[in-house]
Amino acid sequence: MKTYDVIVAGLGAMGSATLYQLARSGVKVLGIDRFDPPHDLGSSHGETRITRSAIGEGEEFVPLVLRSNGIWSELEQATGNELLKKTGLLIFASGTESSVMHGADILHDTIRIAKAFGIAHEALDETGLKQKFPNLAFETGSRGYFEPGAGYLRPELCIATNLSEAQRLGAEVSTGETLIAIESAGSTVKVTTDHNNYECGKLVLSAGAWIKKLLGPRVGSGEFRIFRQAMFWFETEADYSEAHFPVYLKAGDDERSSYYGFPSIDGANSIKAGFEQFDSETDPDSVDREVTEAETDAAFELVSKSFRIRREGARAKTCLYTVTPDFGFVIDFLPDADNVLVVSPCSGHGFKHSAGIGLLAKQMVSGEEPYANVSKFRFRA
Ligand SMILES: Cc1cc2nc3c(=O)[nH]c(=O)nc-3n(C[C@H](O)[C@H](O)[C@H](O)COP(=O)(O)OP(=O)(O)OC[C@H]3O[C@@H](n4cnc5c(N)ncnc54)[C@H](O)[C@@H]3O)c2cc1C
Repeated sequence: MKTYDVIVAGLGAMGSATLYQLARSGVKVLGIDRFDPPHDLGSSHGETRITRSAIGEGEEFVPLVLRSNGIWSELEQATGNELLKKTGLLIFASGTESSVMHGADILHDTIRIAKAFGIAHEALDETGLKQKFPNLAFETGSRGYFEPGAGYLRPELCIATNLSEAQRLGAEVSTGETLIAIESAGSTVKVTTDHNNYECGKLVLSAGAWIKKLLGPRVGSGEFRIFRQAMFWFETEADYSEAHFPVYLKAGDDERSSYYGFPSIDGANSIKAGFEQFDSETDPDSVDREVTEAETDAAFELVSKSFRIRREGARAKTCLYTVTPDFGFVIDFLPDADNVLVVSPCSGHGFKHSAGIGLLAKQMVSGEEPYANVSKFRFRA
């Protein structure tokens, strides 16, 4: 039987970042994935992910993103890959609606956190918004926030870079291999996959939307909920190119009136807009991955109130959220196995933190003092 210091099961955003950090520290590590990451079947595809430093979802996230930014930059220097592009971030909301997102009042809480952490930003009123973004239509009394240091990450390239750097530093990677059972016995964990049996000192479970099925009754039934989300690309009739236009969040009273998105990148003349829904849960193995015309119509209707876009030529894709009850993260050892670390930070806002979470996971399985406070990322009692 093959043995490792650590096995990482699931090599998407979180697992690939963890594998990179473990390989860097010199431990004997194996990463396995049921598919061949980066792929478009989990939570980490679709060309772009927003990164912002004032995290309105909670101050506990700020150290993660700040650490991540340093790691992306280190990876960029080592490989020459451009992972993070700074475009600035605009959050805007009408004067009459609240700005609810991920359980926070995202506009109000982002400004509060930006002030608390000294993150450069501007708070904008309707006049300021119209002056700064003349190609957007704003409702009367609109309010906004602009963070110049924010931007977007290229998720597929981030994952590919983590994996290639991890392998260069000595990690083993096995794709097309699915973890099916774990047994924690004293100081070792027995890991069974559809191809092999392994033994390791520590196991990191970073299986994204599959975590709920994988853990089954080991954790509370409400700990993770899986939701299908849709993202759309609309051709533009005005200049929203990344040289002149930022990533954005349009916040409304609820997810039906809110969306987020990206400028035109790589000269594409299309913006991307993503929507969230928390009404019906799904299963990653049977989710409907087709987006209907009706879904695209509804997205167009809302986005075209602010952006000058065309309905014709729109394309769309689905993706999966793994959501905890408080829209936060779980980065914790299993209640019944202190050598199995679950790393499941999604809740719709995990990617920007993934590089820093990889470092946190490496510190936790190595018995080192974590650089960030993890008390908010524990399983619920
Ligand atoms: C549409 C959408 C938009 C988002 N926008 C943003 C954003 O703008 N900014 C932001 O910060 N975050 C955003 N997020 C959240 C972010 O993308 C996620 O938090 C992050 O991608 C989750 O990474 P993960 O590693 O948990 O999951 P994944 O990247 O999906 O990785 C899980 C991996 O585990 C593998 N796996 C599963 N089961 C097994 C098994 N049994 N054995 C072996 N391997 C297995 C899978 O194949 C997969 O590769 C968004 C998410 C979605 C879906």
